[in-house]
Amino acid sequence: MHTKDRGELVDGLGLDPADWEELRGLGHRMVDDAIEWWSTLRERPVWRPVPAEVRARLEGGLPQEGGSAEEAYEDFLRDVLPYPHGVPHPRFWGWVNGSGLPIGAFADFLATTMNSNAGAFQQSATYVERQVLGWLKEMLDFPAATSALLTSGCSHAQVIALAAARNAKAAGDVRRDGLGREPRRLTLYGSVETHNSVRKAVELLGLGGDALRALPVDEEYRMDIQALRQAIAADRAAGLQPSCVIGTAGTVNTGATDDLERLADVCAEEGLWFHVDGAFGSLAWLAPELRGPLEGLQRADSLAFDLHKWLYLQNDVGCVFVRDEVHHRGAFELSAPYLSELRGGPASEFEGSFKDYGPELTRRFRALKPWMSLKQHGVRKLGEAIRQNVLQARYLAGLIESSSELELLAPVPLNVVAYRFVNPDLSPGEHDLLNRELLVRMQESGSAVPSHTTLRGRFGLRMANTNHRSRPEDFEFLAQETLRLGRELIEEVRSGRPQWALEANA
Ligand SMILES: *Cc1c(COP(=O)(O)O)cnc(C)c1O
Repeated sequence: MHTKDRGELVDGLGLDPADWEELRGLGHRMVDDAIEWWSTLRERPVWRPVPAEVRARLEGGLPQEGGSAEEAYEDFLRDVLPYPHGVPHPRFWGWVNGSGLPIGAFADFLATTMNSNAGAFQQSATYVERQVLGWLKEMLDFPAATSALLTSGCSHAQVIALAAARNAKAAGDVRRDGLGREPRRLTLYGSVETHNSVRKAVELLGLGGDALRALPVDEEYRMDIQALRQAIAADRAAGLQPSCVIGTAGTVNTGATDDLERLADVCAEEGLWFHVDGAFGSLAWLAPELRGPLEGLQRADSLAFDLHKWLYLQNDVGCVFVRDEVHHRGAFELSAPYLSELRGGPASEFEGSFKDYGPELTRRFRALKPWMSLKQHGVRKLGEAIRQNVLQARYLAGLIESSSELELLAPVPLNVVAYRFVNPDLSPGEHDLLNRELLVRMQESGSAVPSHTTLRGRFGLRMANTNHRSRPEDFEFLAQETLRLGRELIEEVRSGRPQWALEANA
């Protein structure tokens, strides 16, 4: 009921502190603790399991009444900080994760302090993002007119890029009519090594996962171009509509890069959209001596990549480039009376703002992290860090090759090394079981965290190096520790069949 009575209205509920000085003390403590934590990373395990009593507390119910900020921080120190995923540690090389630059953490703090909505508006955050996008285009040698957007990551970037591709290559107006009215089914082409985020995007876009053809790869895990041509021809003959080729710059399994020039040629000849998933591998462009395999990258109609992998920034920040602005904006622009533009004020820069280039309206101010990091470090140094990571991977590959008890599972063209412990007495199935057990023991001891994969049916350890904190001795340790644990497991096999190996007989 409307009223002119102030009644129950109060002046604030203590959601902001009554005493800002008190908060200053807590804030300083948090910064001090963060710096202490970074500077002593090496002294702690990379990873350790979350103990049962901590888990129990993390399953506790909704606080009806609050406590103090200090108490919340104490809970964080006790239950959260000691049990990390492990990404910032110098011996974390699992999956693909950026090690995190201190400036990035502070930039995120400052960005959330401002709490800007970077979807639109005349405000600094929009200009910072435009500037960062301009720098990213310049660093990857894309034309300045390329349309671009920062995203939560490469998965989100693929959705945006493939939405633009789908709409551009469909016969009708997909935004209005959906895909049901398309005369021919759209098909897309990747390889068996294409990241699963591409398939997810294809599914989300209503194209159907089966429309994405998974082509075979050659000895170096690069897409077989002959197979690509045949698949396109076969689909055309079957009355389908080939629409898009997805090339990968740096596959997640082995770091392989497809022959981008030849993929671009095929797309040009066949009239297909050329998308490149360059999540981490495209950043190798920053190191001039690593550019060779990436030639052709700039011919992509769209590129998806991450800044939270090989630009060492914290999650989450990725980017999408779309060569043709009309296709990019055409896939997402939508007007509404509450989002129309005014002569002045914050709403004076609504049209053509970031909300028109992706599905999000409210957007995090994620540009501040790359903006401050590039100002602090400069692109040349970041390129050198990338080159160092590749040299380190080659060094590890050399250590593996020089041991008769270790075996490389794939070539090492970039920063990913897949390998395993081998012993002549073991069967193929036993090799898989032994290496699984070896990896879990290594991870649970907290000494190092590589991850795993299976290549041509063989299970192996997988070291993906996007870590600016690793030193040569860390790779020597990894090789040594693999040998030590492998020999320990062989001993267990010799002195009776241990629990972990029983499956091999099943
Ligand atoms: C990590 C990765 C992705 C997915 O990116 P997210 O940032 O995790 O969403 C896609 N492709 C490749 C090759 C990747 O390494």
